[in-house]
Amino acid sequence: MSKRDGIGAGTRLVTAGRRAEWTQGIVNPPVWRASTILYDSIADMRATGGDTHHRLYYGRRGTPTQWALADALTELEPGAEGTFLYCSGVAAIAAALLSVLSPGDELLLVDSAYEPTRAMARGLLARFGITTRFYDPLVGAGIAGLIGDRTRAILMESPGSLTFEVQDVPAIVAAAKARGVTTLIDNTWATPLFFPAIAAGVDLSILACTKYVVGHSDVMMGSVTAGPGHFAKLRQTSFELGQVAAPDDCWLGSRGLRTMGVRLRHHEQSALEIARWLDARDEVGAVLHPALPSCPGHENFVRDFKGSSGLFAFVLNNADEASRAAFIDALDLFGIGYSWGGFESLATPADPHRALGERDWGGAIVRFQIGLEDTADLIADIDQALAAFRDARG
Ligand SMILES: *Cc1c(COP(=O)(O)O)cnc(C)c1O
Repeated sequence: MSKRDGIGAGTRLVTAGRRAEWTQGIVNPPVWRASTILYDSIADMRATGGDTHHRLYYGRRGTPTQWALADALTELEPGAEGTFLYCSGVAAIAAALLSVLSPGDELLLVDSAYEPTRAMARGLLARFGITTRFYDPLVGAGIAGLIGDRTRAILMESPGSLTFEVQDVPAIVAAAKARGVTTLIDNTWATPLFFPAIAAGVDLSILACTKYVVGHSDVMMGSVTAGPGHFAKLRQTSFELGQVAAPDDCWLGSRGLRTMGVRLRHHEQSALEIARWLDARDEVGAVLHPALPSCPGHENFVRDFKGSSGLFAFVLNNADEASRAAFIDALDLFGIGYSWGGFESLATPADPHRALGERDWGGAIVRFQIGLEDTADLIADIDQALAAFRDARG
């Protein structure tokens, strides 16, 4: 029992990973750049043995800069065993899957998964003899009926990319545990602050740190946090893949992490206000925001999540490609660009493709990342862009 057991997530964000021997008294853990590590003698060189965890050995095994961020992310997931960092979110997904799957295995992948994850299943995994079966994001306990003899892993993403369905993670985890299947989740949208995935029984929790951890749209990074019994394999696989996140990037990641809690609360409130405002507009059909009752799986959100973040989507009624483009182009305060989780608002066209069947949304979908601007300014901007949309739609 330490004095810090039971502290809140905000406090943890400030204190996590800042070991005195790594920071040397500097508040934000400094940048330790290294390839070669020098030893005093051959005996000293041999002394690490096989175990290089938190020991300077060779640059690829990390320095205190990487260890401080990895440890901080572990501390944010109650019950977690350890975290490995990667050069992008997609690299983190690849390493997590390869730490679990072997040729001949089957992966169950949610049909609302991030497109590059689907591409990895079709490409890399298929090439190595791993098959993928897509499942409906609202399958819940019904996942048990999809688990076969070759099923080795289930990769969830909740809410789903572009369409924001919230999955019944506890039901899926229970079914997987009963059959000895490993569970993974892409937890980028909620972060461990709004959904502590390891505490919910998930084995491997993946973040595109590029988004909310970094928070300033200037670094690519990913992480995988492992639950009990899963870290050694993850670390070994990541070493075998030659994975290492750059110390300078990790330093920026640590810096971003300290403010993630206050940023998320602002993203949450502003995005909710804008989602509700859009919901009341005639030009707008379904608003796909997990905290709104109309979002598929909303009851799972209410039961399992501690908050909502700044990313959601909505349907522009009867919009085609041209009128949707007219709306997005007319926005002044929203950037047009991929990614999200930074301090700036973004708008992108969203065109989900689903293996289990396409759906007619009654219009075209726009995805918003709501940044840290004043909400009233963003609403005024959207209001004038909706006028441009009405003109374009005719
Ligand atoms: C952006 C994103 C990723 C990939 O992260 P990168 O750092 O861009 O590789 C993975 N999952 C989700 C849900 C994302 O939004």
